[in-house]
Amino acid sequence: MALLSVIVPCYNECEALPIFYQKLKETLSGMECGHEIIFVDDGSTDGTAELLRRFAEDDGTVVWLSLSRNFGKEAAMYAGLSNIRGDYAAIMDCDLQDPPEMLPEMLAAVESGEYSMAAARRVDRRGEPPIRSFFARRFYKFVNRICESEIADGARDFRVMTREVADIVVSMHEHNRFSKGIFSWVGFKTKWVPYVNRERVAGKTKWSFWHLFGYAIDGIINFSHVPLTIASWFGLFMTFFAFVTELVVIVRRLLFDEPVAGWASLVCIIVFIGGLQLFFLGTIGNYIAKLYRESKGRPHYIVEKSNRDDVKKVG
Ligand code: UDP
Ligand code: MG
Repeated sequence: MALLSVIVPCYNECEALPIFYQKLKETLSGMECGHEIIFVDDGSTDGTAELLRRFAEDDGTVVWLSLSRNFGKEAAMYAGLSNIRGDYAAIMDCDLQDPPEMLPEMLAAVESGEYSMAAARRVDRRGEPPIRSFFARRFYKFVNRICESEIADGARDFRVMTREVADIVVSMHEHNRFSKGIFSWVGFKTKWVPYVNRERVAGKTKWSFWHLFGYAIDGIINFSHVPLTIASWFGLFMTFFAFVTELVVIVRRLLFDEPVAGWASLVCIIVFIGGLQLFFLGTIGNYIAKLYRESKGRPHYIVEKSNRDDVKKVG
């Protein structure tokens, strides 16, 4: 019998977890495959760890890993993926925004052998603050123009994949992780399963607008060199523009004896160019900072405690 490993990153999810666990169990027990549920407690401070321990006492399929601090959802997913035993892996949030009822359909697609991944894709963004939807849409449009891998609008981290894909994703050690981009970058045939957006069942989202904004910038920098190319082309364009305007100034002075007046315009130009230079310097700095972070080669996560002995503690 095939074994499905369900990875669930949790950060302060005391309120949502009991409802989620019950729903997930209902779905999983109706499926033909065996299962293990790997809860990754991402440094929660609200009793999530105790709750997971209680689940595990009564249910041998529950595995919990408590990370030594909050490492972020990307690291929590990585910790989960690094510790699967199943033939298939699923990743889902525990706020029921990723409906467990979709698991059988997604697993069937992957089990059929036709697809290596099945991923949920929201067909609308109901229930989300309008400003967040607006920026999310723009982000996907922009990203798909400039990035080396396509990221579908509405794609979530909720997906089922074969062991082969899971192992490849784990073998990608990059620290600046942007899972949606990584899953797209590795390729393989993906089945997109549409669903209508749902609101979180309990608790609060961990992502503020600025947090998401930073994540979006990360996504662009991790999968594209276009910002650097833009900087180069802009530099070239400004040089050409300056050359032409200089010619105009010289011609006006020599032929028509008309000096160009005004230091105000000069100050504006200097400030403008200075601003641009700082902006592009910052962009380059962003790439260098990421390079620095990668070069240190620190682990993605550290497991402090777990109910499984052979867990990969650092990875
Ligand atoms: N999460 C996590 N570590 C974090 C932040 C979030 O493991 O630092 C988990 C969280 O518990 C949830 C999932 O990631 O299961 C998605 O988080 P959330 O629902 O807050 O994000 P949203 O759905 O609003 O994008
Ligand atoms: Mg959520």
